Amino acid sequence: MDFTLPFKRWGRFLADLFFPPLCLGCQAMLESPTALPLVCPNCLNSLTPLPEDFPQIHILNRLHPCYLDDLWIAFEFSEVIRALLHSIKYQKMPRQGMRVGGYAGHILSTQLQSAGEALVLPVPLHPLRAKEREYNQSALIARGIFENLENEIVENLLVRRRYTSSQTRLNRMRRKLNVKNAFAVGEEIPLADRAVILVDDVVTTGATLNECARVLKERGAKRVTGMALATPVHGE
Ligand SMILES: [Zn+2]
Repeated sequence: MDFTLPFKRWGRFLADLFFPPLCLGCQAMLESPTALPLVCPNCLNSLTPLPEDFPQIHILNRLHPCYLDDLWIAFEFSEVIRALLHSIKYQKMPRQGMRVGGYAGHILSTQLQSAGEALVLPVPLHPLRAKEREYNQSALIARGIFENLENEIVENLLVRRRYTSSQTRLNRMRRKLNVKNAFAVGEEIPLADRAVILVDDVVTTGATLNECARVLKERGAKRVTGMALATPVHGE
């Protein structure tokens, strides 16, 4: 019996009274304050699942050479997704990260049936950036996606060798150059003939996932599938 429970509940009540939880998407006050996710039903319903063939047509077909065997992306990027990722990255909300991963896993459940025993590797942050944030949002998303599956998630097998600048303002060619040789694979787990699933938060040109896939295949990985929460559908 946890005797501190009534005090914890009371503390929670006071916290909700003075700092009512707001929807991370639109800042509306939430009706069921203790329920995760901290997103209102409107924002949750506004998330648009990405058509299944979009990643092949708009991302994989434009990578030359392409080292990814497949790419699964759950949602169209939107302001709600931006707000969710921002809260995961900067407001220290790791459980929110897993919950968002859970949404993606639900949308991609058909694709996940072919995940088999693939090793799951989150795209790493550079150690400096990881220190600022304390955790890697892609790792949290991966944990949410694979919560009900048996796949092994290994956080530090894939590492960033150098501090790459943000890809946000770079064009396709510069993105490719920016990530070239930025990743290395540890020796702890043999990759020969293994299937690997790489997990990232947002994919734009696919340059980062493709570069990770390249080094994994150099190390013998048989099949590399990319997986992400969202991709922008317009623009670039
Ligand atoms: Zn909302």
